Amino acid sequence: MRDYATSAIRNVGLFSHGGAGKTTLTEAFLFNSGVINRIGRVDDGTTVSDYDPEETRRHISVQLSLMPFDWQGRRVNLIDAPGFTDFIGEVYEAAAVVDTAIILFDATGGVEIGAELIWQHSEEKGLPRMIVVNKIDRENADFFRTVDQMRARFGKKIVPMQIPIGAEANFKGVLDLVGGKAYAAGDGAEMPLPADVESQFSEMREKLIEAAVENEDELMMKYLDGEALSEDEIRAGLRAGILNGSVVPVLVCSALHNQAVKQIMDAIVEYCPSPVDRPAVQANEASSDKIVKLPADPAGPPAALVFKTTADPFVGKLTYFRVYSGTLKSNSHVHNANRRLEERIGQLYSVRGKTQEPVGQVSAGDIGAIAKLQESSTGDTLSSKDKSLILPGIKFPSPVYFASIVPKAKADLDKLGEAISRIMEEDPAISVYKESATGETILTAMGELHADVTAQKMKHKFGVDVELRLPSVPYRETVQTPTSSEYKHKKQTGGHGQYGHVFLEVEPLPRGAGFEFSERVVGGAVPKQYIAAVEKGVREAIHEGVLAGYPVVDLKVTLYDGSYHAVDSSEMSFKVAASHAFKKGIEQAQPILLEPIMLVNITVPEQYVGDIMSDLNTKRGRVLGLTPEGGVSVIQTTIPMAEMRRYSADLRSISQGRGSYEMKFDHYEQVPAHIAPEVIANAKKE
Ligand code: GDP
Ligand code: MG
Repeated sequence: MRDYATSAIRNVGLFSHGGAGKTTLTEAFLFNSGVINRIGRVDDGTTVSDYDPEETRRHISVQLSLMPFDWQGRRVNLIDAPGFTDFIGEVYEAAAVVDTAIILFDATGGVEIGAELIWQHSEEKGLPRMIVVNKIDRENADFFRTVDQMRARFGKKIVPMQIPIGAEANFKGVLDLVGGKAYAAGDGAEMPLPADVESQFSEMREKLIEAAVENEDELMMKYLDGEALSEDEIRAGLRAGILNGSVVPVLVCSALHNQAVKQIMDAIVEYCPSPVDRPAVQANEASSDKIVKLPADPAGPPAALVFKTTADPFVGKLTYFRVYSGTLKSNSHVHNANRRLEERIGQLYSVRGKTQEPVGQVSAGDIGAIAKLQESSTGDTLSSKDKSLILPGIKFPSPVYFASIVPKAKADLDKLGEAISRIMEEDPAISVYKESATGETILTAMGELHADVTAQKMKHKFGVDVELRLPSVPYRETVQTPTSSEYKHKKQTGGHGQYGHVFLEVEPLPRGAGFEFSERVVGGAVPKQYIAAVEKGVREAIHEGVLAGYPVVDLKVTLYDGSYHAVDSSEMSFKVAASHAFKKGIEQAQPILLEPIMLVNITVPEQYVGDIMSDLNTKRGRVLGLTPEGGVSVIQTTIPMAEMRRYSADLRSISQGRGSYEMKFDHYEQVPAHIAPEVIANAKKE
């Protein structure tokens, strides 16, 4: 592999709503640049980019893949990202290291949530953008309608740089608005300008020029003076506008038929910024805690960001990084400032999909991978010991889907811990924790599909077969009125007998107070050593309530009297007596069920607020506040956990995927009388 000058590199990511054609377009790029000599199809599971078994099986991308190719002497490091919002973690990883986001739209559809998410995310990151309207060959494809919808949603900075000649089955070619030339859809050869696009051409070209001159004062003056601008001047203006985010050009193609795709490749090398064009990244210098600016210079201090880690049982761990400054060399050492440790790096690789090619070094602006790096993980910075640097890491959105992981067999249980830690290393959007209240192992993910893919990965990559279930709700029991109870445990079984006799008082405590034990025995009715046994007996008994077997909380138990036998009494006898007296006591004290109530913040575009509110009604939600925040509203509400377990799917369907939510435990409350019998019946079934 050649080592490219930093200015010859283009790091671009393909993003969109699932199914707009990113993987298909990637395949066409690879074919046109000579990497492959046959075009595979997503639907046949034969593309280079969707190589993971989960991808070929489902015919969708579930992880980002790196697909470099050469075009016109430039190195394009293309990243094909998944589209489904379940895999937003991969999208964030890709967006962290590219210099341009290319956003795909389906010419037959509207603006969908996947596109909206990446639009927002790239806006926040100041990432230059380019748009491709794909599937122009399809029935009902309409380039101009699609552009109008995008402009209505995202604003006037979206300007066509090409227009299609014909559409649907009649798609004949594209007209380049800058150069004024038409190119045939099939082989890309120059073709005569059809007469019927003439008027459209001048109108659209004018708009493009207006957008281009906005970014250069000199050009603007010239334009306002009515002087004609040269093609080169227009191109320079557009490049400047793309770089500073004020222009988002639109291109058009049919990826499936490889039509007008070469023009897109030309536009990538011509208009997308190289790493040296982007602003210098800011890193934190660990020794001084100062912010330093790092231009993309191969001779600068080394600084590379780890943006993805894969764990393969055969290949081992592979760590993907982008170098922002300096040069990383094979068989050397790096310093990981996030973890404050030294790491040895062996062979470096250039990666394409599932294949790796050894390289001697990877320099500023380029993307590479390291095999079997021990400690470093996604989001870490690799630098040198003399100048230890930390680049901005990758922030992942909070999870919305929760499932309980149940191993299918003993062997699966034994291997579970190892598999989970490898999976979490690969996918920082996954987390796993033990819920102490229910004893369950809870998997958190970005959606049901994400959780399901994760379970399949565990099976196929690590041989661990698990089932995912809805997590159980950690119900509790408590009492409502003070009572007292008595129990005498007495057994005569020849020789030593058993004797323990206690009087207990049971009284409710405020919500959240937990459990208290006290005693006020007078006159040694129960001797000291047996009082401890009584407490032990009660503390064991509170683990299982009398209604449905849930732990009993928020109550105080007082031992106030009893009696003992000089020979037959023992600690065991008092424990048994205490536990029986306790059960009797809470039975009389009007026991009730408690359920966890979550505090939930739901963020949705305003038009969905009404539907969200009526859905909250059916979920026993209590709205605490509604805050409008520029087009979206944040609804703050409390909802019983039992009603929240499928909320990610519900919210997705109510808000067309545009809503998000965050939740945390708030407090326990009594389960309403009309619901309690069902909870009790379910618990008894288990
Ligand atoms: P991704 O989710 O964005 O990667 O989309 P895929 O590349 O997996 O494509 C989704 C579906 O759209 C597949 O069935 C493709 O064959 C189909 N597709 C992709 N591009 C085109 C196109 O230009 N025209 C037509 N008609 N279908 C396309
Ligand atoms: Mg894909």
